[in-house]
Amino acid sequence: MCTHRDTCAKLLTTGRGGRRDAIVLFLNKPAIIGRNPSACIPAGNGGIILSCKDLSTNGIILNGRHRLRKASIILMDGDTLTIPHSQTFTCIHMRKGHQEKAHIFDPTPRQTPSVREIGDYAVTSHCLGSGSYATVNLAIDTNKYRQVACKTIRTKTEDDLKKVQKEVQILMKLHHPNVTKIRDVSINGRFLHIFLELSTGGDLFTYISSNVNSSRLCEGEAKYIMYQLFRGLKYIHDKHISHRDLKPENILLCEPGPYPRIQIADFGLARANAYQETLHVVGTVAYLPPEGILALDDLYRGYVGMPSDCWSAGVIMFIMLT
Ligand code: AMP
Repeated sequence: MCTHRDTCAKLLTTGRGGRRDAIVLFLNKPAIIGRNPSACIPAGNGGIILSCKDLSTNGIILNGRHRLRKASIILMDGDTLTIPHSQTFTCIHMRKGHQEKAHIFDPTPRQTPSVREIGDYAVTSHCLGSGSYATVNLAIDTNKYRQVACKTIRTKTEDDLKKVQKEVQILMKLHHPNVTKIRDVSINGRFLHIFLELSTGGDLFTYISSNVNSSRLCEGEAKYIMYQLFRGLKYIHDKHISHRDLKPENILLCEPGPYPRIQIADFGLARANAYQETLHVVGTVAYLPPEGILALDDLYRGYVGMPSDCWSAGVIMFIMLT
């Protein structure tokens, strides 16, 4: 049963006769607009992700400008969604108080949402999340009419920039359904903008912890996710790349809903020549293998990235099931 507290967003519209109407969206309860399913799920940063998937033949129009087809999109507070020759819906996020609402995805509050043009992309001020090295904003590829995630990394020196660029070049060669795809890269001074395929289902950690029945997944779903994780991992390992920071927060769900398609994300700590031993331990302690933990305190002890990723995958499976 839904309670008032589960209400997370409203889609307001005015019908033909001028009658105002609202579709109320509840957390984890999909709704249908026309032919298009929309869903409201928790986001890792405490806010919500409101997404809508277009299944129509004519597409849908976002904010009166961008026609998007057969795509799953993220709707931010204040966005409008138009079904061609039919109704326009205005999206209102309700999960938080008014003060916080405008900035749910925005760590640097601004009065009004803004858009920056970077090449063919319109990068919005809506922040999807941030990691230790980067901020990720919602953007639109104005050529291909689709939403993407724009990850901005600020490097301190020219050398750092070259290093990151080298890594990005390796990752641009990766093409696998279970690995986040880099669409484009742009450099602006010391800022590197990486345009990534957008995932609209949030991250695996939030998915597990917000499970309505219990904070774990059933065996079938865990098995399905592990199968995809191992396929993605085998693909990158076959290319001699290790991820070195595998954890549920770095696994993104392509779309909301059960039995999700997943993608391995955040290659910020990835390493080429992953079969070689490294003395430099990186990653998140809870997911490190025993040899990684021992190497933390011993300058002369090393560990190898590829088996370390496999250990981390085991920890992820344990978390999903327990
Ligand atoms: P990262 O620095 O790659 O760990 O990204 C930080 C956060 O940004 C993630 O936890 C996600 O919430 C969000 N994010 C990163 N990449 C994407 C993407 N491709 N699609 C949607 N959200 C993303």
